[in-house]
Amino acid sequence: MRSTFSYPQNFVRYLGTGGARYCMIRQMRWTGGIWFSYGGLNGVIDPGPGSLYHICNATPDIEADSVRVILLTHKHLDHSTDINVLAEAMTEGGFQKQGTIILPKDAIEAPDPVFLDYCAQKVGKIQKACDGLITELENGVTVEAVMHVHHDVDCFGYILRKKGLRSWGIISDTRLMSSFAKRYENCDYISINTTFLERNPKSEHMSIQDDIDLLKELHPKLVTISHMGVKLINNGPEKLAKTLSTAQTRVVAGQDGMIINLDNLKIFSPINKKKEIIKYKII
Ligand SMILES: [Zn+2]
Repeated sequence: MRSTFSYPQNFVRYLGTGGARYCMIRQMRWTGGIWFSYGGLNGVIDPGPGSLYHICNATPDIEADSVRVILLTHKHLDHSTDINVLAEAMTEGGFQKQGTIILPKDAIEAPDPVFLDYCAQKVGKIQKACDGLITELENGVTVEAVMHVHHDVDCFGYILRKKGLRSWGIISDTRLMSSFAKRYENCDYISINTTFLERNPKSEHMSIQDDIDLLKELHPKLVTISHMGVKLINNGPEKLAKTLSTAQTRVVAGQDGMIINLDNLKIFSPINKKKEIIKYKII
């Protein structure tokens, strides 16, 4: 049955809400990152495993070859494995040198790049992220990189802006930093990678406790939590998210395929019917 739903003009669609290695390996949640259509520009943030698959299987359709920007927060596999195939889609198989990729330096430079040089050569513009750098994209959309601290790799969050539209952003894998409240203060919506239940001083990932502390100082209208680890998923993220909500901020647990309207911040939760192979026949 065809869906009668149509996308809002400006929206985010989760291509995955799972995070960290065990959730990814088992695909307890999808791990394809975030699709956005914003100010006439289509893009993907953190195209991890399954990103292209979940773009190609989205309902209603979204088109991989309409992507004009890819934002990579860091090179870890659960964020980056599909960056090369998406670059191939963005450049229409390499025949159109177009689009922009913003990524940390260590994701493209020796000794251990995740973005292949032969793919990079086909892309219109490659921008290495640095803290506070604002890059102008197509249609008057800008993106600002926000430095994170995350386990020996370069890592950045991003804030997207366009005149006349709501600003929004992502806080990626990081320890909670005192700079976030100021840097993200004009965002109406933030997707926060919240991997753990409790804060672990040895782990540079956000936790539910970190979100509570951050939301004492930062007051976006809407937060969705994503990049959830196994323990968090098994402890009912929907209920946990509700407990994080404050007078100013609604907090909702992300779901695979969830859509957020970036104009009015309404959230569309997907209704799934399982498509499974149930048997085989000899041919
Ligand atoms: Zn990571």
